Amino acid sequence: METVVPIPALPTVPVHGASAVFPVRRIYCIGRNYADHAREMGADPNRETPFFFGKPQDVVVPQGGKVAYPPATSNLHHEVELVVALARGGRDIPEADALACIYGYAVGLDLTRRDLQAKAKDKGQPWDTAKGFDQSAPLSPITPVAACGHPDSGAIWLSVNGAERQRGSLSQMIWSVPEIIAHISKFVALAPGDLIFTGTPAGVGPIVAGDRVRCGIDGLGELEILLV
Ligand code: MN
Repeated sequence: METVVPIPALPTVPVHGASAVFPVRRIYCIGRNYADHAREMGADPNRETPFFFGKPQDVVVPQGGKVAYPPATSNLHHEVELVVALARGGRDIPEADALACIYGYAVGLDLTRRDLQAKAKDKGQPWDTAKGFDQSAPLSPITPVAACGHPDSGAIWLSVNGAERQRGSLSQMIWSVPEIIAHISKFVALAPGDLIFTGTPAGVGPIVAGDRVRCGIDGLGELEILLV
């Protein structure tokens, strides 16, 4: 096919134990899904309806590594999250069918320009500049469900330069993975290749150039980035 501009490269993520890769179609993110994090952000965690936002597909940073400190912020925050990778999709997916849509799971970082997010919240503006910037979604290799099952109770943690900043349990998620898939699919058709970031536990905070960020989830391995 002849195109008038070059065809963009399709972002892909490695899969543990496979030479084939996972192609990324869309990136969805759930907000405020751990009560202690909702409280630290000044929100009421009593099961408000889940809300989601998106990131562009090409902001994924497969396997982490060097990440450039983004422009236009002086308060870049880390948020470690369980990420769901879909093998199947659809509209109005019942909770009972949701787990069967999942290819695997990964450890992700929802990097956030907290200062721009705060301004957007104040003015009722969208979160795109706060959440959807270049390299804002580092991601570990994906572990297939066949190898890890459906993790719902393991530890999720993050350290900066060796000092622990976040530690929680997947059991603290307010909305479960099946509830999240059912919810998003009421608004959009989910599809193979979609990634869903499922929220972060408490302890989010600033990172600066030179910081080494390590994070992990029991059974899914680790992800590391170096901010440059
Ligand atoms: Mn997040």
